[in-house]
Amino acid sequence: MDLSIFDEFESNVRSYVRSFPVVFAKADGVVLTDEDGSEYLDFLSGAGTLNYGHNNPILQVALIEYLQSGGVTHGLDLATVAKRQFIETFSRLILQPRGLDYKLQFTGPTGANAVEAALKLARMSTGRSEVVAFTHAFHGVSVGALATTANRKFRDAAGVPLGNVTFVPYDGYVDASFDSIRYLERLLGDPSSGLDRPAAVIVETIQGEGGVNVARVEWLRALSELCIREGIVLIVDDIQVGCGRTGTFFSFEQSGIVPDIVILSKSLSGYGLPMSLVLMRRELDIWKPGSHSGTFRGNNLAFVGATVALETYWSDSAFSERVLSLGEVVKERLERIAARHSASGLVVRGRGMIWGIVSETHPDIAKRVSEEAFTRGLIIETSGAYGEVLKLLSPLTISDEELERGLAIIEQSFDVVLA
Ligand code: PLP
Repeated sequence: MDLSIFDEFESNVRSYVRSFPVVFAKADGVVLTDEDGSEYLDFLSGAGTLNYGHNNPILQVALIEYLQSGGVTHGLDLATVAKRQFIETFSRLILQPRGLDYKLQFTGPTGANAVEAALKLARMSTGRSEVVAFTHAFHGVSVGALATTANRKFRDAAGVPLGNVTFVPYDGYVDASFDSIRYLERLLGDPSSGLDRPAAVIVETIQGEGGVNVARVEWLRALSELCIREGIVLIVDDIQVGCGRTGTFFSFEQSGIVPDIVILSKSLSGYGLPMSLVLMRRELDIWKPGSHSGTFRGNNLAFVGATVALETYWSDSAFSERVLSLGEVVKERLERIAARHSASGLVVRGRGMIWGIVSETHPDIAKRVSEEAFTRGLIIETSGAYGEVLKLLSPLTISDEELERGLAIIEQSFDVVLA
């Protein structure tokens, strides 16, 4: 397939296209089709943006109807009918049933912009500048967010010092017995620890880009309690694992914590349309009008998609239960693969429908399996500090048959690579 125009004109910064060097023409549910008609199961899902699949027909009909009705498409932050419907639906189906009383800030459309807003808000509201983030964290690549992103690959591109952030070991980073919340508590309580009192702690409940590292619920609870005790704003970045990825709408629901700020993006609009949202405790809403602005805060098509996605998938518990049962299928199959290749030291980790399979001793295996899987019609990426984790992130709307096909390709690819 001819990719020469991309090689000649598009910046070297492009990344995913290097792993999957074909030209895609169509998309439907879990399937991407290239311009020669070859089909691929998509277990990358726009890095977590397509929880409801590509071109979801229910959302598509609503979007086409909205476009043809002459509804507002671009709205800055003007009040529109589409935005009102989204706010009403989000409040009724997501916030109220969970007893959450957040105000909503629509930021610029990238996850990173919402992270910037959350960090600014925490700093402004506390009058403090320091932030605690975690090892292997990924919160985006604009400079403020980048300061909280751990991987040197991204940090090296900043060109300026990335300051005012201290990285603390994530749950399980050192080993299973190391209590990093106690460590953080000790740092905060010691006037001579060198850690200045932070405005915020920013955390992913499962680190997607960082290698599918899953924080235990007890760890999240201890972190939340510590933040409450110390008056530190707790920000949960639910950009990748929110919107149902873990089986509940928010990824922190299982732990029972109530973060001060929650960030959503990626799958929120349902259709892959850009949209980001910061949820904040009411008292934290100290913004002055326009002080975190942005031209593209009013993607009304995204509001329409998001509203219909919420009505379709979050009006009852059926979707949530389906995600959890799919997750069990994935877990079992990956554990079987790991057991069959026990000599390679494969470890399986994940929750809901985000799973990783990793060999710490042979970090190259994941990339080789991803390459082999692609030749067999499966798009699946790696993550982690060394790309050592094969990350399964299929749409949540996947059928049993499609999931089986994808898992079979993964199994065959491991067999070939480890033969
Ligand atoms: N935070 C998390 C947890 C993410 O996974 C990502 C993107 O992968 C971001 C922030 C950044 O979002 P964006 O790429 O839309 O700026």
